Amino acid sequence: MTPFLYRIAQSFYERYGHDISQLAFVFPNRRSGIFFQKYLAEVAGKPLFSPRVTTINDLMAELSPYTTIDRISLLVMLYKRYIELRQSDETFDNFVFWGDMLLGDFDDVDKYMVDARQLYTNIHDLKEIDEFYLTDEQIAIIKRFWGHLFFPSTESENKQQFIQLWQILFDLYNRLRDDLASQNKAYEGMIFRDVAERCRRKETLDLPYTQVVFVGFNAITEAERVFMEYLRDTGLGDFYWDYYAPTLHDPYNKAAFFLNDNKRRFPSKIDLDERIEQVPRIELISVPSAVGQAKQATDILQRLIDEKQLSPERAIDTAIVLPDEELLLPMLYSIPPEISTVNITMGYTLQHTTVAALMDSIFQMQRHVRFSKGEPRFYHIDVKQLLGHRFIAARLGDEGQRITAFINGNNRAFVSPGELGRHPLVELLFRIPATADEAADYLTRLLEYLQQDTAADEPAEATDEENSPVGFSAVEREFMYHYYITIKRLRDVMTEQRIAMGVDTFFRLLGKMAASISIPFRGEPLSGLQVMGVLETRALDFENLIILSMNEGIFPVKKVAPSFIPYNLRRGFGMATTEHQDSIYAYYFYRMISRAKRVFLLYDSRTDGLKSGEVSRYVYQLKYHYRLPIQEIQINCDIATFSPTTITVDKHRFGIDRKLAAFLSGGDSALSASAINRYLNCPLQFYLQYIEGLERPDEVAESVDSGTFGSIYHGMMQHIYERIEGDREQVTVTADHIDAIRKDKPLLTHYLEECFARDYYKTPQHPRPLTGYDYLTGEIILKLIDKTLEKDRSLTPFVYRASELRITGEAPISGQRAVQLKGFIDRVDECNGRIRIVDYKTGKERLDFKSVEELFDSSATERRKAILQVLLYCKLYKMNYRPASPIYPAIYIIRNLFDKFEWNIRYEKDLFTDFAHVEEEFDRCLTACLDEIFNLDRPFTQTTEESHCQYCDFKLLCKR
Ligand code: SF4
Repeated sequence: MTPFLYRIAQSFYERYGHDISQLAFVFPNRRSGIFFQKYLAEVAGKPLFSPRVTTINDLMAELSPYTTIDRISLLVMLYKRYIELRQSDETFDNFVFWGDMLLGDFDDVDKYMVDARQLYTNIHDLKEIDEFYLTDEQIAIIKRFWGHLFFPSTESENKQQFIQLWQILFDLYNRLRDDLASQNKAYEGMIFRDVAERCRRKETLDLPYTQVVFVGFNAITEAERVFMEYLRDTGLGDFYWDYYAPTLHDPYNKAAFFLNDNKRRFPSKIDLDERIEQVPRIELISVPSAVGQAKQATDILQRLIDEKQLSPERAIDTAIVLPDEELLLPMLYSIPPEISTVNITMGYTLQHTTVAALMDSIFQMQRHVRFSKGEPRFYHIDVKQLLGHRFIAARLGDEGQRITAFINGNNRAFVSPGELGRHPLVELLFRIPATADEAADYLTRLLEYLQQDTAADEPAEATDEENSPVGFSAVEREFMYHYYITIKRLRDVMTEQRIAMGVDTFFRLLGKMAASISIPFRGEPLSGLQVMGVLETRALDFENLIILSMNEGIFPVKKVAPSFIPYNLRRGFGMATTEHQDSIYAYYFYRMISRAKRVFLLYDSRTDGLKSGEVSRYVYQLKYHYRLPIQEIQINCDIATFSPTTITVDKHRFGIDRKLAAFLSGGDSALSASAINRYLNCPLQFYLQYIEGLERPDEVAESVDSGTFGSIYHGMMQHIYERIEGDREQVTVTADHIDAIRKDKPLLTHYLEECFARDYYKTPQHPRPLTGYDYLTGEIILKLIDKTLEKDRSLTPFVYRASELRITGEAPISGQRAVQLKGFIDRVDECNGRIRIVDYKTGKERLDFKSVEELFDSSATERRKAILQVLLYCKLYKMNYRPASPIYPAIYIIRNLFDKFEWNIRYEKDLFTDFAHVEEEFDRCLTACLDEIFNLDRPFTQTTEESHCQYCDFKLLCKR
């Protein structure tokens, strides 16, 4: 394969030899110029003075007296003029999107040398249209458009607004251009137009070349056409069009749209005499994933290396083309390690970068900041999200984890800067800028910190994740740098132009700027694997082409640049339309594959959501219109269906026997009723939680959850009865006691605040008044407490004995061993000659049971866990206190306090008033259960009842 640019270099060197240095070669982009220079050096085989190699944009800029203005300054300039003309108070960040659109239109108006007055003014009146100097076709098209928009006269509000806006556009366009000209500045289209108008006026342009050779163009704007005609007519211009592929001569192929006109207007002085007869070997690969295409591209590269079609040291003949820029990073991270040099030439929108995600998180955090006593408080989710960002987490290391643990452990929904620690990055990150200027300073200092740290730590040649100690790739550093520059530029322009804005507006504006800034990667293209966008393939040829995203809508691209100028007017005024776009992309595709040996076309075959999974029209054309042989390969992603394996844990392993022994007599642990209930629910769950001590990590609860609710209720009840008890050994609670407490609202509120501080805010030393949602929760708890006291009043007089009573004991098991047991009894009192063991329950419970065996039946779906628990407490109380009175278990189901409240347990439908009735059976069942737990030959297994897994924290582990 002889590349087109090689042929140009060869032909011109043959004709001009060393005099080639007197010529200028103009290319559609820089990359093609650099490849041309490389080929010229190869052709010459010896050093020679290079001709001038440039792009059309650079050449136009050289010929114009204007310098190009940066985009942000241009937008601000336009905004000021717009506000003035419209007498509007629209904010700058609202203006940015359509300000951009207007600039795009003005650029087009100039590049296509449209008469802006005709386009933008006076055409709301159809009569006036005829007076303009327009061709009949133009008039017909414009009448069609305006007739539709403006008649009948009942215009909608939208139309009115559009018309009002439309009517100022000519003034806006003119004033912007005047402002720019007065500063010797211009946007690209203005430069093009300036040069073209001078060509029309036949002014002499300063071009110190014997020839100006245009190479590899296709679609040209009116200004470019005028410029080329000027050079052609002055004998300076020479033109080389790459229309050699047979497909580009096919009149049915849109790619050929510009061919005849270009060749007729701008002939070549040298006949390259090229014929392309080879047909590339094409493989079409469907992949049911976007990112999966990058993986397939990697496999293709590997295959090419294995087949010796690609040499890792000379990967320059192979290109990966990315019509969808979002695949750039997945692609870069997938390139085989053998290929050490990669050259990227494409634009990548700043918005999709990791640094943009960091900025979004910062903006989010700043928006949610609250102030308390003049000090900022950061919302815990925002803080954790920021700490989890790759750049920040890598820098903070353990400190980030410490902060997260602190937030979770202390249930901090809002965190103060003091609580976040003194790490320099934390101090930089968690600040509150008060003005837009401070916001810019805050962000730039943060990025400087991240960049400096990275640069200091990284080896100079580190270019990939592995080499980078903080995981910043060279590409990401580049993104960071561009974001940094954008912030600085935005701040400078705001200051220069005296545009005032708040912090929020500054952040929003920055986000919008990032959405519209494309970072141009321009590496050293003469080495390594070439990764490029579609536009960058112009005039270049590669032996192996791997084109990703060959999906309809992506290649060819479906979306058109947003514009205020309707389609019909664009056509009427000879501006680029969607048809142009279709032709341009078809040309890119057919030209790019025309000299390749191997072409791999990959597309995303998924059809879910908005994705059609449709392959590009070009593939259909190759298959059915040109009847080219295409090898089709379908990649299937194996969706592994896990059939979860059964988990059993052998008690002889992992030191489990030792851990179990800690619960036996003399050990330092004891089993609670909850642990026994857990075992009966699922032995594996018991093992993970009580033997291995696995716990759900702390999380911040932003409202009182059911566990905390129960703790606060328990705490309140304890406070109340301890208050009644006072310093006495024992107290008989009377109705008066209870009435007094129920009336003492300040006291109850004080207890409530203490319990909230201890159980919810985790600041036991600092009780505080409840507010907002917490206040409402507190009111509910107070009502429940009052209702409980009302129920207790009906039992008066009774003797109060204890609250939250800690009790321990031992239960014998086989092998002359005993298991240590423990528990906290919510309340013990003595009522009607019986000792009541009271347990408060906030959840749903049933208070009846038929047998003790049923309480220990691990397969039961509605096992009475609460009854088992309170019976165990009865047993432990009896062991500890040996009371002469019967022991009477009671369960207060809090949720039933206002409706059918009952605290009595029923045993086979009878009131259960004496633990002694079941004591023996209870001991037997308990021993059997404990024997099973401590039987080393009986592994811990998963429950067979999947309903038991519903609220288990280990569901992921078990895949239940
Ligand atoms: S998920 Fe089910 S089987 Fe697994 S530990 Fe939890 S309760 Fe047991």
